[in-house]
Amino acid sequence: MTETVLDTAVIGAGAAGLHVGRLLMDRGMSAELFDAHPRVGDSWRERYRSLRIFSPSRVSSLPGLPLDVGFFRFPTAQQMGDYLERYATRFGIVVRTDAAVAGLTRDDSGRFRLDLANGDAVLAHRVVVAAGAHRTPKLPEFARDLDPGITQVTSIDYRGPEQLAPGDVLVVGAGNSGTDIALEAARNGHRVTIAGRHPGQVPVDVDTPIGNILSGIFLSRLRHLTIDTEKGRAAKETHRGIMLIRNKLADLDRAGITRVARIESVVDGLPVTADGAAIDAATVVWATGSRPDLGWIRIDGVLDAEGEPLHDRGMARRCAGLAFVGLDFQHSAASGALFGMGADAEYVVDALCSVERPAERPGTRVGEAVI
Ligand SMILES: Cc1cc2nc3c(=O)[nH]c(=O)nc-3n(C[C@H](O)[C@H](O)[C@H](O)COP(=O)(O)OP(=O)(O)OC[C@H]3O[C@@H](n4cnc5c(N)ncnc54)[C@H](O)[C@@H]3O)c2cc1C
Repeated sequence: MTETVLDTAVIGAGAAGLHVGRLLMDRGMSAELFDAHPRVGDSWRERYRSLRIFSPSRVSSLPGLPLDVGFFRFPTAQQMGDYLERYATRFGIVVRTDAAVAGLTRDDSGRFRLDLANGDAVLAHRVVVAAGAHRTPKLPEFARDLDPGITQVTSIDYRGPEQLAPGDVLVVGAGNSGTDIALEAARNGHRVTIAGRHPGQVPVDVDTPIGNILSGIFLSRLRHLTIDTEKGRAAKETHRGIMLIRNKLADLDRAGITRVARIESVVDGLPVTADGAAIDAATVVWATGSRPDLGWIRIDGVLDAEGEPLHDRGMARRCAGLAFVGLDFQHSAASGALFGMGADAEYVVDALCSVERPAERPGTRVGEAVI
């Protein structure tokens, strides 16, 4: 069991954590990143195998190393994971992998303590939580009333069509992941129904050069829709996820997918739409959104009753020295995405650098490991 003392600990080594790690290094601050996965980039590698990212590579790259898959091409999730791993190596960002943080607390002197699942402990003067906005599925309460004979999978756990039972598939949720999974199920011979409100769609084909350029411009503009503006604050209130970027309603129709209203209840074990239709399916895929998983933060006043951070532009409201990056709508409509989290990373790193460090306990030095 080891105990390390650090200047700044970053929890999570996805795109957001790496971004923060590099900025801290640029400012000469010692930092170490901690990630639960065995390899940097695994948060992408564990998403469904057919996933291709929807944001053009030039707006999805981290500073200093372009995503080199071709100007008009979109990386697969696997390529995205490998890119993040290359990024950490290229810039010498120190990442401790297989290092799940099971508890984050704070002592009386104001210093943070990270208890790792393997029993090691880390003490840090500042902490950035970059643990991802899409770690755990959001399910409607009535999901538990579904007939146990129906196979259920969430878009977070979905890897590929082998998880679908033979027979009809109902995908609940018509966003980017839901429509990807519905189209894949249809390609694999299932009769598919998709339920949910259409979130709107980008009116160009992003897989054409002109569509790629236009969608890049459109997505980049979301960075300007911030909570500093009235329009941005209103958008945050009504924010239910991003519009369809690659898939279109016409693709669903061409694939023979039936579109129905939202699922609003379960009656006699079957999902029922807002207009009262019961859907009989062998598999239900819940693509109803996701949320951060921050239950391991055990500092009073940091999380609200729903487990969401209380923060101002990523700075914990009631805990100096603690910050978040990568939250949905942290500051702009692009905050939770690759093309928007950079601005938030810069803001919180600057703000953290101005937080005074708590006094050192006699006998400890930054970087010291105690057995
Ligand atoms: C299916 C899907 C497709 C997407 N496609 C796009 C896209 O095309 N373009 C785009 O811009 N955005 C996309 N996004 C949003 C995307 O998730 C973000 O852009 C980006 O990956 C988030 O990076 P992150 O570092 O915040 O989170 P993650 O990539 O989730 O990284 C968080 C890391 O924190 C680690 N972690 C969490 N908790 C702990 C803990 N307690 N201890 C230690 N480590 C921990 C995890 O292991 C993980 O590696 C997509 C999201 C999903 C779900």
